[in-house]
Amino acid sequence: MRKNGIIMFSDIYAALSGGMGCIMDKNAEMAQLLFADIKKTPEDFEKKYPARDLPEGAKVTRFAPSPTGFLHLGSLFAAFVSQRAAKATGGVFYLRIEDTDKKREVKDGVTGIVEGLEDFGICPDEGMINETESKGAYAPYIQSHRTHIYQAYVKSLVEQGMAYPCFMTEEEIATVREQQEAEKKLPGIYGEYAKYRDITVEEAQKLMDEGHEYVLRLKSPGKPDGKVSFKDAVKGSIEMPENILDVVLLKKDGTPTYHFAHAVDDHLMHTTDVTRGDEWISSTPIHLQLFKVLGFKAPKYAHISPIMKEDAETGGKRKLSKRKDPEAAVSYYKEAGFPKEAVLEYLMTIANSNFEDWRRANKTAPIDDFKFSLSKMSKAGALFDLVKLNDISKNYISTLDTETVYSGTIEWAREYNEKLYKLLTENEAYARAILGIERGNAKPRKDIGKWEDVENYLAYFYDELWDRKFDFADNLSKEDMAEIIEEYKKIYNPSASAEEWFPSVRDLSERLGYAKSPKDYKKDPDAFKGHVGDVSGVIRAAATGRRNTPDLYEILQTLGYDEVMKRFDEALNVLKG
Ligand code: GLU
Repeated sequence: MRKNGIIMFSDIYAALSGGMGCIMDKNAEMAQLLFADIKKTPEDFEKKYPARDLPEGAKVTRFAPSPTGFLHLGSLFAAFVSQRAAKATGGVFYLRIEDTDKKREVKDGVTGIVEGLEDFGICPDEGMINETESKGAYAPYIQSHRTHIYQAYVKSLVEQGMAYPCFMTEEEIATVREQQEAEKKLPGIYGEYAKYRDITVEEAQKLMDEGHEYVLRLKSPGKPDGKVSFKDAVKGSIEMPENILDVVLLKKDGTPTYHFAHAVDDHLMHTTDVTRGDEWISSTPIHLQLFKVLGFKAPKYAHISPIMKEDAETGGKRKLSKRKDPEAAVSYYKEAGFPKEAVLEYLMTIANSNFEDWRRANKTAPIDDFKFSLSKMSKAGALFDLVKLNDISKNYISTLDTETVYSGTIEWAREYNEKLYKLLTENEAYARAILGIERGNAKPRKDIGKWEDVENYLAYFYDELWDRKFDFADNLSKEDMAEIIEEYKKIYNPSASAEEWFPSVRDLSERLGYAKSPKDYKKDPDAFKGHVGDVSGVIRAAATGRRNTPDLYEILQTLGYDEVMKRFDEALNVLKG
């Protein structure tokens, strides 16, 4: 309508109404109403976070925990797998903190996670390094600092008519849910239940003016009989019903839901492969839909099976539980003093079934040389085996040199065993000599599985640790044992070499009526009181209190003449007393 020859704005509006232009304008108007302060557009962020400059085939993976401070063994496993997948392809592994759920957050929770990973040598290439700082060009790596980014993307979805404000109250949603349950329908806000799906700008404006709270929902393009399929690197091809829920993108306070935030982040941080626990499979149709609606290329998925445990009560398999199993927390392994290399070695055995064969063929190669592959991961959850971890760890520690064992023990003891720390640092040379016994042999002993074991392993070297009890074998009489010790005292020569030492014990055996070798004894047991092994066993028990120890000659040398003699006398007192 013309007024005084001037074309009014409303005239243009009217001319466009009924056409596409109007809907577009309405959407733009709605976006403006909801996000007046958001000036940046998705294009701005696309520019700010350009594609990574990586070789063809390089994977970008991430570990994306909530800042709970607690690192579950399963999470460590997932992080390890993500890191290996990136490493194996010359890619990037980063740490993103997903703190959209404030209820799960604890104080210093980010640092707890960062340190927990570091304890096991998993150092992300990028991401958060403590509560507030990060490294890398795709920062911020913590979702609570990215709200403006998520809002820009939701604004753009509103502009395209793919998202809308929903003013449903908790009560209304609960009522819908009850109705759906009664009618055995899929619960949630979708289709006919999505009361505000077609809300107009005017209605929204009115409700906002009245002070009603709202969330931003996706206008899901999913069809009730639609299907979505994807190829999971671990689980294979998966087909699932398409998402039809109008999921929440932004909560009432304007912060994003996990679903939405992770899609935007994985896109902007150029994640190529999402490796995460398989409890997320059920959400994957939502995620794939979000990627599509946002115009993003979806990442590849690798859903990792949980680590299982045999339940002591039922005998059945169940997930390793934070509540029931102390070994579910990674702090358990640190406190027990499992070297990180051993834990990672174990995790690799459950990650890739071909690792053990590779390890047999490449005994001393660094674990990084193993070509890890997501596709070789087991579809079913691996059974956690503490005994196997202990064996792997014993094996690993047996290959270490004295210095590494000494420093590993010291580092652990500094934090967890003050008494041991003091003893081992008071006289370092003595401690090194003890830990060096039989180290470097072709067939090293496997006595120590974790640093926690060291105290018991070397207890008899220290007055403060040894209970001074003598565990003699029971196949000889006390008199015979006392005789062996008395006679050995006479010939014990601390200057004798290792080569001279055993023959001297053999000669003594013969002199006292024992066979020079177990073989001779077996041939004619009635001719002897026992054999050389029994004789050295008595000397061993008298010097160490134990029936089983590493090389006795080295032990005697380390204890020193005076201490050995003192112990022989104590042992004689016990035998004669
Ligand atoms: N933030 C999610 C969690 O706490 C991670 C899910 C994902 O990796 O996509 O488990």
